[in-house]
Amino acid sequence: MRYWTDGEKEIGVFGLGRSGRAAASLLRLRGFSVTGLDSRDDVPPCSDCSRIVTGNEMESCLGGLDGIVISPGIDPSSPLPMAASELGIPIIGEIELAFRNTDIPVLAITGSNGKTTTAEWLGYTLRKAGLNVCVAGNMGYPFSRAIIENPDADFISLEVSSYQLQTIETFRPSGAAILNITPDHLQRHGDIEGYINAKARIFMNQHDSDLLVLNRDDPGSIPLAGRSSGLEWYFGIGESLEAGAFSEGDSIYYSDSRSKMFVINRRDISLPGLHNLSNALAVVCLAGKAGLAPEQMIEGLSSFPGVPHRIEWIREYDGVSFVNDSKSTNPESLHVALKSISKPVVLIAGGLAKKADYAQLRGLIADRVKVIILIGDASEMLENCWSGDVPIFREIVLENAVKRALDQSQDGDVVLLSPGCASFDQYMSFEERGEHFRKLVEELS
Ligand code: ADP
Repeated sequence: MRYWTDGEKEIGVFGLGRSGRAAASLLRLRGFSVTGLDSRDDVPPCSDCSRIVTGNEMESCLGGLDGIVISPGIDPSSPLPMAASELGIPIIGEIELAFRNTDIPVLAITGSNGKTTTAEWLGYTLRKAGLNVCVAGNMGYPFSRAIIENPDADFISLEVSSYQLQTIETFRPSGAAILNITPDHLQRHGDIEGYINAKARIFMNQHDSDLLVLNRDDPGSIPLAGRSSGLEWYFGIGESLEAGAFSEGDSIYYSDSRSKMFVINRRDISLPGLHNLSNALAVVCLAGKAGLAPEQMIEGLSSFPGVPHRIEWIREYDGVSFVNDSKSTNPESLHVALKSISKPVVLIAGGLAKKADYAQLRGLIADRVKVIILIGDASEMLENCWSGDVPIFREIVLENAVKRALDQSQDGDVVLLSPGCASFDQYMSFEERGEHFRKLVEELS
């Protein structure tokens, strides 16, 4: 009997969120009996679980389990997984489980910023070229659910986070891209080296025919060079590269090491900003790996509408444009949002700060922003970092921030919600924060 693919074993699924429930469905479909484990006492029912064990009861049921699938939100070095390891119970993550249960080739994308956009853009581009492609992973449609619902897909375009990569064993994407590395999630990974090593797991099982794509322009990615056993390609802006994708002047090229092929004019890329040019170049590399010729990439690259809450234009009111970048949860994403807007910006930022260097944004803020409006927990810290060059208002909640922004803006300005911080001080998720902003902006009259 193969361990994670068929059998009558009893498997625990630890963490009954979206990916845990998808893992439970897949396990049940393969004939396993599933014990749901969750530290919350009020877990919603799980129809694929034969029983649910919660709270303090969890540790005592470990002895009856043949394996555990652990949710990405749970630290593998926390007490319950450690207790399970001591008992010799194998532990994997949902990505590993799904990978062992499918033959569909995987194109995987990780990085500190741009994962969802790039995975969606790749899926869109491959579909426009006629392939049957499913986009799955960290953005909310779990890999396990995707393989149950799309058994005939030609490819899975998979977004994987560093947390998900911590619990893979044999996962082996035929193409992988690491978009960029900036310090994030250091509490879980210990230090930047731990975080980089978690990202590097995306290619640890690759063979010589597999492809790893790295960002030539990202200093954080340098430690990853030369470490994979597969092909190593690059993408970069403004520099000709031997193998990969790059822009030179206004042209974007794809090079498979034998020939350099023109793909598209840079101005025809559908999303704004240099960061999106970078994302598009990663798409070109992986689309090439999937077998697309450059001319088959054009439609996808030029018509992709983008993903909600990422520099998303909402409406114009009284000559002022309102842009929702609620997914901006760290200083890097705030940085790229400011870089990609050329008009004067009235910035709404704040929320729950990351352990990161916000002061580095001072120069860019002085250059692009005319007024800052701060909300949430981080207000005081951000005011200390940014005060001096630009007027700052503190408004606590978004309702008042939008009113203040309208008050402070004039014809031709852009009101940008790009918090640079997590949303959890006031919202359940960045989506909820972005939807709230959209509603407030749509109601302006
Ligand atoms: P992720 O899934 O990695 O969080 P998203 O595509 O959801 O990435 O984008 C998150 C935030 O990062 C958004 O505010 C977006 O504008 C910004 N962003 C997108 N691509 C990049 C990039 N290549 N570099 C830096 N920031 C980016």
